Amino acid sequence: MSDYQTLLSNFEALGLNNMREYYPVLLDKVHTEDLSLTSAFLEITDKEMKFQKEKKMERAIHRARFPKVKTFDTFDFDFQPSLNRTAVLELKHLGFMESKENIVFIGSPGVGKTHLAIALGVEACRQEKLTLFINCHELLIRLRAAYEKGTVERVLRRYARYELLIIDEIGYLPIQKHEADLIFQLLNMRYETHSTIFTTNIALSGWGELFKSPETAAAILDRMVHHVKIYKIKGKSYRMKHT
Ligand code: ADP
Ligand code: MG
Repeated sequence: MSDYQTLLSNFEALGLNNMREYYPVLLDKVHTEDLSLTSAFLEITDKEMKFQKEKKMERAIHRARFPKVKTFDTFDFDFQPSLNRTAVLELKHLGFMESKENIVFIGSPGVGKTHLAIALGVEACRQEKLTLFINCHELLIRLRAAYEKGTVERVLRRYARYELLIIDEIGYLPIQKHEADLIFQLLNMRYETHSTIFTTNIALSGWGELFKSPETAAAILDRMVHHVKIYKIKGKSYRMKHT
């Protein structure tokens, strides 16, 4: 093998795949532009770092299990004038996570609650925060199954560890008393440690009924809304935009 080929396979063995790919181009540039060794190394390592960061982000987004990747760029704030654009865009800086605040998006179907929750989750992934998106119904199924298997403590601890947990669609399906207790335990573990984002179609005043018990609902709301930002979206469904 020539030195050139060995170098390329060294890049590969070190996991520097972008450097391996870009090296021939760089070599050309070194000759045509009379690039210094330091400049050449700087350029190729910068590229590799950018590439690795990109990959890392892609993996984080994949692991967060968003049903679909959505971003703020594609959110039409003009369509939802009840929503304070500046306040919502401020959330991108994740200050709410620093202060362990929760976020609730309330509104009827189609107003963009899930879109905004995912957009924030994607931002969190970009900023290397361990993130998980889960539908409330699915979360309850998993918690109940774990409870029946006797592993609920461990599973709760796993969900409690995410730096950002997005619980989507609270209130779309009925919640049993026992399930409400499991949600309470989870929120209690996350309380003042990590932020949680909730989306719901039910005003907080209706949660007593949703959780079948005013006491459990009060305990959940207490953990949830002690440090919280609530966004009520009062507009029309985006799905009806063209009808
Ligand atoms: P919700 O969770 O409130 O029921 P979604 O966030 O699922 O609503 O929105 C329904 C669909 O409409 C999604 O495809 C979403 O991306 C899109 N959508 C909703 N609101 C907006 C908006 N203001 N700008 C762009 N797309 C939107
Ligand atoms: Mg939704």
